[in-house]
Amino acid sequence: MKFDTAYSLTLDEKLSIYDVRDLNFDETAAFDSDQDSFLCPNDECRAAFAASNVLGTFNAKNVNYLRTPHFKNIPSTQHIEGCRYASRKTAVGESEDEREDSFPSEFVLTRRLYERKTLAFGTEGSVPQEPAKTPSSNSSNLHSTGDVTPDKTSVFAHPVECYVSNIVDKDKLKGMPLKIGEHSATYWTFFKRIEYLQDNKGLIYWGRIKEIKDYTSSLRIDFEKKVWLDKKPYSVNVYLNKKLIENYRKRRAFLEQIKAAMKSERPLYCFFYGVTPELKQVPSKKNPEQTFGVFSADIQNLDHLLIREAPGLEA
Ligand SMILES: [Zn+2]
Repeated sequence: MKFDTAYSLTLDEKLSIYDVRDLNFDETAAFDSDQDSFLCPNDECRAAFAASNVLGTFNAKNVNYLRTPHFKNIPSTQHIEGCRYASRKTAVGESEDEREDSFPSEFVLTRRLYERKTLAFGTEGSVPQEPAKTPSSNSSNLHSTGDVTPDKTSVFAHPVECYVSNIVDKDKLKGMPLKIGEHSATYWTFFKRIEYLQDNKGLIYWGRIKEIKDYTSSLRIDFEKKVWLDKKPYSVNVYLNKKLIENYRKRRAFLEQIKAAMKSERPLYCFFYGVTPELKQVPSKKNPEQTFGVFSADIQNLDHLLIREAPGLEA
């Protein structure tokens, strides 16, 4: 059985496996999932066992992964009767579900901060009081505490994994709600093939990478598909400023990924959110007097860009 959330002993918080990956690659965070202990996210179950009753992780540290990252029970993991994280019979050949089935309902654009809690234990006052709910409050209001609950994520890889691993189930993607910023739609609507970027602004655009070019002050990702406007095809690309990369908190992991992508013979896809490529006129190299049109954008936030393999997307 796989699950996407677990309790981190060092952070005293429930983390998704994507939070764990984000922390592992973050050079500004003193965190290493190998040094942490992950326990059952069910509070009652966790309280029943010692802290040595841990879970395992899968793909917590791989920069490039194919199979969905998750937490899992290891042979020694125990759960209380009725805990929903207890493995059902570990039948031989049990088809470990490859799909990500934990769909966050919101992609939060600001990064989650992990503060070590300094709660005074043993005092009545340490129990957070539930705010009184008015009968008129609807479900969308219930999440407006500013807190990142397991239902939300600020790690871009999480909604992308939901989309990629469930691509064969369009109905599911069409039924799953996703909120980004002020906009609410479904997973299906939010993910847009790069060639159709003119359909709507502010979506998660994706497409197969044709080439990654290394320039003096930037990297340019060229997409294979072209955008058609007035019956003419235009190339699409995004620029990544090298200063942005140098100052990126996940610089090492990012560069490792870019290097692997430049050498890769396998189809790779780029997903990004936050900018919409627009038609620009750029000077021609052969004849600087002339210009040609290209749809282009400068990536503003590397947290909202992802390069990965995604088998099945073009099926
Ligand atoms: Zn449990």
